Amino acid sequence: MRTADIPEKYRDMFMNILDGGSAAHILWVCGEEKTVSLGKPLLPDGVTEPLDYIRENDILSETSKDTFNVFAAHVEEGILSGIGREYVSTDVEIKFPGEDTYTLSHCFALFRFDENKRVDAVFISVRPFNNLQSFHKKVITDFTSDKAPMILGKRCRDVYDEHPDEEIAYIQFDIERFKLINEKYGVEIGDELLKFINDSLGVICGDKIPFCRLTADVFMMVMAFREKEEVTNFIRRVESMIIGYKGLDYHLVFGVAVVEDRSLHTRRCGDNASLARQEMHGNALENIGWYNGKLKNELKKMQSIEEDMNKALLKNEFLMYLQPKFSISSNRIIGAEALARWNHTKKGMISPADFIPVFEKNGFILKLDRLMWEKACMQIRDWLDRGIEAVPISVNISREYVKSFDVVSFMLDLVKKYDIPIELLELEITESMDALGIDEVVAKMKKAGFTMLMDDFGSGYSSLNMLKTTQFDVLKIDRLFLNEFMGSDRGRKIISHTISMSQDIGIGIIAEGVETREQACFLEKCGCDMAQGFYYSKPIPVDEFERRLLGE
Ligand code: C2E
Ligand code: MG
Ligand code: MG
Repeated sequence: MRTADIPEKYRDMFMNILDGGSAAHILWVCGEEKTVSLGKPLLPDGVTEPLDYIRENDILSETSKDTFNVFAAHVEEGILSGIGREYVSTDVEIKFPGEDTYTLSHCFALFRFDENKRVDAVFISVRPFNNLQSFHKKVITDFTSDKAPMILGKRCRDVYDEHPDEEIAYIQFDIERFKLINEKYGVEIGDELLKFINDSLGVICGDKIPFCRLTADVFMMVMAFREKEEVTNFIRRVESMIIGYKGLDYHLVFGVAVVEDRSLHTRRCGDNASLARQEMHGNALENIGWYNGKLKNELKKMQSIEEDMNKALLKNEFLMYLQPKFSISSNRIIGAEALARWNHTKKGMISPADFIPVFEKNGFILKLDRLMWEKACMQIRDWLDRGIEAVPISVNISREYVKSFDVVSFMLDLVKKYDIPIELLELEITESMDALGIDEVVAKMKKAGFTMLMDDFGSGYSSLNMLKTTQFDVLKIDRLFLNEFMGSDRGRKIISHTISMSQDIGIGIIAEGVETREQACFLEKCGCDMAQGFYYSKPIPVDEFERRLLGE
């Protein structure tokens, strides 16, 4: 018999046995609590639980412990209830008795089933890679990581071919707010976690379910199934194995796309899973999203927005609308917020709700914002030149780039370029849960002389927490907060106390989304004199704003 004649999945086992002394072989007869060892020594005599022994006896390097735990958990689950596979494998660094260094080794556990299809024994081999193999493995891992999605594409096709009568699911997942892990625990821990996930998927997915790391924290797997439940069970298994690494606090968000048309490019199937995944972000109740027709339309919409945005910039299709801010008591305009509008040549006016979230995802938001900031400065300059009494314009700053792009220098350059008083340019940033580090940026902006507004106050999770350390000058009460809370006695009390609290700690307050006279009166009574909302005016084109400002 030639090696090539051995069915591929058993080849490892044969090779292990054949290479005699260089690998450790353990036959674990689980029912009888007995082990028999052959080849390179690893366990002392009399060990009845080999996996526990390896876990507990300083045999594994620090970075391999968690991966080995996933491997061991799989073997144990295979013994107890079956995992639908004949074997599990992984690579870990192991220190053999009498040696002082760890060696990268391949662990392989093959189940033996009795006549009742229950596992009665496990054959475990631990085979050190020799230097050349380790080197190859490393080179291959490094070299292929970029190309992993391509390789995955090919392997997906294999899954299609092997399962002509089953359904195929593309499953993507990522870590919710992964950036937070990097910020909170450091980039090394972030990298370690991603490596752990990658290694664990190697164990969990085995040969039958191709997987790869697509980008930073996004992973994808492709599996065949008959019942939807199989997919959910598999996801739950992945989740239970991957979550809680080193006691870190994070959770996973999954998106699943079931293939409807096998001729569709594998990348498109991946895009669908990605869309389903992104839809689930921020959902506190569920973490598995399924791709469906509604998402299909959104994907189309998103793709057309992405295709058109660069052209729109060149064709000057982005406009600045201004929404007046009013003093409730004097009923006069005291400022404006600059809000973007997209005047699309074919589709007409598109609202920011449709394009801002897309731009925030694909990074285009920074280009748009820089344009809006410049338009605002130009407007102020124009008013000053024409002798019009200018009011401050506030512009929105997106959290997406705030830590990577030097907003302060850019803004200061604009103020200098248009030679405008810095008080006339105000900056709005949304408060948010992942506000780590934002405080610092806000402090820098404030120090530079800008007035800082905390946008959408009351819509996030950590409003009160942020107030403790904040450098903001003004709170902008979110319109939903205002609308929802105005409806009940208790809610009104909360708004009223929020206003007095802001006065107490010496920050200004403005309400946005004021839609009725009743709301304006209530706010004024509570001590909030600044308001913005449809009761006063919708966002309007600049010339219309000017007419109102001049009282025409
Ligand atoms: P935002 O900064 O909180 O802006 C206020 C939004 O509330 C505006 O929606 C405005 O039209 C709306 N609004 C104002 N008063 C009322 C009211 O009385 N009732 C109701 N129902 N809505 C009211 P818009 O213009 O659609 O903008 C939505 C969001 O898009 C903005 O929320 C902001 O987060 C974002 N956005 C808009 N333009 C820009 C921009 O140039 N850059 C960035 N980064 N974000 C922008
Ligand atoms: Mg705003
Ligand atoms: Mg707002």
